[in-house]
Amino acid sequence: MFIDMKYVKEIMLEILNIPSPAGDTFESIERLRKEFESMDIKVSDTNKGAIFGTIKGENNEKQKMITAHVDTLGAMVKEIKSNGRLKLSNIGGIAWNSLEGENIVIKTIRGKKYTGVILPTKASLHVHSDEVREMPRTEETMEVRIDEVVYTKEDTLKLGIGVGDFVSFYTRSIITESGYIKSRHIDDKACVAVLFGVCKYLKDNNIKPKFTTHFFISNYEELGHGVSGIPEKTTELLALDIGTVGEGHTSDEHSVCICAKDSRTPYDFGFRKKLVELAEAANINYKVDVHYRYGSDASLAVMQGVDVNFACIGPGVDATHHYERTHINSLENNIKLIIEYLTK
Ligand SMILES: [Zn+2]
Repeated sequence: MFIDMKYVKEIMLEILNIPSPAGDTFESIERLRKEFESMDIKVSDTNKGAIFGTIKGENNEKQKMITAHVDTLGAMVKEIKSNGRLKLSNIGGIAWNSLEGENIVIKTIRGKKYTGVILPTKASLHVHSDEVREMPRTEETMEVRIDEVVYTKEDTLKLGIGVGDFVSFYTRSIITESGYIKSRHIDDKACVAVLFGVCKYLKDNNIKPKFTTHFFISNYEELGHGVSGIPEKTTELLALDIGTVGEGHTSDEHSVCICAKDSRTPYDFGFRKKLVELAEAANINYKVDVHYRYGSDASLAVMQGVDVNFACIGPGVDATHHYERTHINSLENNIKLIIEYLTK
């Protein structure tokens, strides 16, 4: 089985470089619409701004859906302070210390972009001495220093920056010679790349999946309501989302991580067992894990009353929701398992 990993890397890096904090995903969704279309895959829209590409299968009566989310963590301007700096409100599960010193882009309502950096209100050791080390990093103690000449609230307002503007973080995306991918938002853009890697494999090899399959790009997963507007005949929902690497977890950066349970619900046993059996039969490195503080498009959809069978797999990612890392062979193992799932 030849997987075009060069393509997977390219599409991943490209979408990592299109900011898409949850609530402002239009640009990345439009880019991915083009990607489906370039493969002659029919695209449908949901009212909420998500899209899905559909590949017809041998059986059109029972359909499958595979999701990956393009929305990421981010922030929104909450307040313009009297010194012209910005107070932020988080979008998604952020630990503020993970953002200290990070460059950001502020996008105004008219689409103008400004850069800045997230800093604690007391950043300079020379000025504030030990308080810099001891101060907790919270929404209250972190602010944005804008890269423009601003000293007052009026200066900032004159730039066109206002409450409600979206803020995205630099991703610092790097693929090392050893195959590691380092970036913010590997969650879940690596999985979006996996999803397109699967589509490309099916198209390049002229393979029809057993069942009609919808490839869903969700746009509000980080807020817990990524999947809606599922086509009626969908019976199975497979979410592609990160496996969490760390103490007490089995996930690693090289395997496909099959989630048995997250903090909302166990996943369907039969579905999970089938994925394990497919991985074993095809000699694909896999790990089964229980994620501690976690929900996916699949677990959250069923919590919202969607009647589908559900499972979740993904690449193992270190330092999730921080400066994340995984390995390229983890992506390849995911693609292989999904192809087995769709064709066996
Ligand atoms: Zn995710």
